[in-house]
Amino acid sequence: MADTLDQMLTLMNLAKSSGADLVEIRFDSLSSSSSSSSSVKEDIQTLIASSPLPTLFTHRPKWEGGQYDGDEQSRLSALQLAMELGADHIDVELQAVDDFKTLTGGSKPAKCKLIVSSHNYQNTPSLEDLNNLVNKMQSTGADIVKIATTAVDITDVARVFHITSQSQVPIISMAMGERGLISRLLSPKYGGYLTFGTVERGKESAPGQPTIQDLLDVFNFRQIGPDTKVYGIIGKPVGHSKSPLLYNKAFRSIGFDGVYVHLLVDDVKNFLETYTDFAGFSCTIPHKEAVVQCCDEVDPTAKLIGAVNCVVRRDDGTLYGCNTDYVGAITAIEDGLRASGFKDGASGSPLDGRLFVVIGAGGAGKALAYGAKEKGARIVIANRTYDRARELAEIIGGKALSLADLNTYNPEDGMILANTTSIGMQPNIDQTPVSKEALKSYTLVFDAVYTPKITRLLREAGECGALIVTGVEMFIGQAYQQYERFTGLPAPKELFREIMANY
Ligand code: NAP
Repeated sequence: MADTLDQMLTLMNLAKSSGADLVEIRFDSLSSSSSSSSSVKEDIQTLIASSPLPTLFTHRPKWEGGQYDGDEQSRLSALQLAMELGADHIDVELQAVDDFKTLTGGSKPAKCKLIVSSHNYQNTPSLEDLNNLVNKMQSTGADIVKIATTAVDITDVARVFHITSQSQVPIISMAMGERGLISRLLSPKYGGYLTFGTVERGKESAPGQPTIQDLLDVFNFRQIGPDTKVYGIIGKPVGHSKSPLLYNKAFRSIGFDGVYVHLLVDDVKNFLETYTDFAGFSCTIPHKEAVVQCCDEVDPTAKLIGAVNCVVRRDDGTLYGCNTDYVGAITAIEDGLRASGFKDGASGSPLDGRLFVVIGAGGAGKALAYGAKEKGARIVIANRTYDRARELAEIIGGKALSLADLNTYNPEDGMILANTTSIGMQPNIDQTPVSKEALKSYTLVFDAVYTPKITRLLREAGECGALIVTGVEMFIGQAYQQYERFTGLPAPKELFREIMANY
């Protein structure tokens, strides 16, 4: 998509160098696309002749979500011209296909494939309606059908996968929008003819398109096939998660036939009941607690914590949930203390007997509190909602504070502080849960937030002389554990560290 011919040619070359197989020319995006018929012909000729890749020519009218608002006859003539001038595919909307065939007399060069398309920018219809639509499109004599719907919920995509895998004719299918991302990423698993990638962010021709780079480098798109196992991170929001990068690079490094995707989920129960063929999930905000009820079996520690962050589908189809957060975080904190010469206590941990202050009472907060308690620490919980702090403190046998209390809380030296709230996370990097002055009483400060790596809390703690442990350490630690549960194979620890060091 571009305003001028020159920009379009530049983008075509960029598409090729980025690794695309085919380039879609969105002729309607050119500002000259409704000008005189001789210049239209010249433009089409130039674009098709200069394309470094096979072409898909599209001239989308406003009434189907495109930019062209000239007369219909000229639009159809441009499509006919593109076909005659050597386009490899042309896209004709279902509503216009009869008129197009009347114009061309039904003839087209053997090389050119006719894509008959339909776009729904509101929702994804029922399975029955989608099937009827495919049949109707197929009966027009389409070589390929293209159905683009809109995902209102991620479970809508299951219907798109269903029609894709059942289609008798080659099919391009997708559910647009952020909730439909998996329809684009997993298209080869379900037999889709192609998927659309954008050359760069901001150049999307439809909502929710990934970049070519993401498709190829983050999601290993070329390696995805019918047997590829699907894993992913369930959350809301979830687009910021670095987990897909980490797991997919690790999968690729050993040739494991799996892909790990972002899963923007609103209702976790509905999601898990819909995608019974997906193999495993990481779980993040706000679903870690709700997912406990959705598992057939839950690891006893995760049950105590009341939060599951890792779900594995067993061979018999049942779901097993566990919590890898606490191991990752507690190990990182222990390693930090030991590296600075702190000795293990009677519990076998340097946390033994220490006062351990947890900020937050959500999934990560509970995990840290239980983990530290298990290592012999005395627990204090400080939370925005004081009642949640009190509840957790009562169960665990600790003390509760409000967030404001924390600024003056200073019963002894040598304490450990662990932030498990999202305070300080991008984009709110100027926020911090506790004043710098109060940090002077702590020996070690840990922050679960890992974007940015060094949060304001950690920076100020370091300035006060405390040891700091970043959320990246926790992230890597919990990811090792999940990787091993997902694949049954040892995690490539060095690779994980290398990848995270660069982000
Ligand atoms: P959660 O279950 O939703 O809990 C969120 C906690 O943060 C609650 O205690 C909540 O307090 C508090 N909170 C949220 N926004 C707040 C604000 N603006 N001011 C004060 N308190 C606020 O989430 P979670 O799963 O525990 O995750 C919490 C954080 O840990 C996230 O930033 C997440 O990215 C991070 N995390 C990191 C890793 C890692 O590997 N590094 C792993 C897991 C989690 P209320 O009770 O008052 O709502």
